[in-house]
Amino acid sequence: MPIVGYQRLSLRDYPGRLCAKAIIPGCNFRCPYCTRQDLIFDFLGMDWVTFNDILGHLYRARGYITGFCIGGGEPTIHNGLLEFAFKVKSVGYRIKLDTNGTRPRRINKLMEERVLNYVALDIKAPLDRYGEVVQNKVNIGDVEESIRLLRRGNVDYEFGTTVVPGLVEARDIEEIARSLIGSRRFVIRQFKPGGCLDPEYDSIRPFSIEELEKMRALISPYFAEVRIER
Ligand code: SF4
Repeated sequence: MPIVGYQRLSLRDYPGRLCAKAIIPGCNFRCPYCTRQDLIFDFLGMDWVTFNDILGHLYRARGYITGFCIGGGEPTIHNGLLEFAFKVKSVGYRIKLDTNGTRPRRINKLMEERVLNYVALDIKAPLDRYGEVVQNKVNIGDVEESIRLLRRGNVDYEFGTTVVPGLVEARDIEEIARSLIGSRRFVIRQFKPGGCLDPEYDSIRPFSIEELEKMRALISPYFAEVRIER
């Protein structure tokens, strides 16, 4: 399992908990607003973090930090994810997975093995616009299956979407919300230009906080909780 980054303390990657975070490289999408193209194209040349480095910190931080976020990139494209998550869990941490939902069988296995405590599933676009937004082939049935797994499972979860002027806007967020009606939590994520995969996106001005608040008001009836993440 390649790990190319390790954050010893994050205040924002596990709702309600302090957590450590492992950055897993590689991704099967090519979102034009992605600012981590190094994780997609350059990770073979990056220094990898060893599991022993992580383990030493996890033992020292036990009790102070209680969560562990596995983020990326897209962690579920790797065969070693279950084993890695299991090892971290066995030290006593609660595991959160950040995913784009394209590997439902792997997510299901992690849920069946009771390794996961929280899943943040990134919904990139209304289902009929996925390919256009992620700039790659996608089996939309896989994303739908991941959504179903979370909605009917007993692992805590959130859905979330990055909003980008001209690409994913208020009407898209409303359409996504309608398709997820009754789900627990939804996160509206602010787009942050700077080093985007498609350089044209670096000149796009993100939505203002007022516009984000309007989106929140628009979709609040569909969920128990809607957060804005900036
Ligand atoms: S923003 Fe898109 S391309 Fe970048 S890591 Fe996330 S899913 Fe992959």
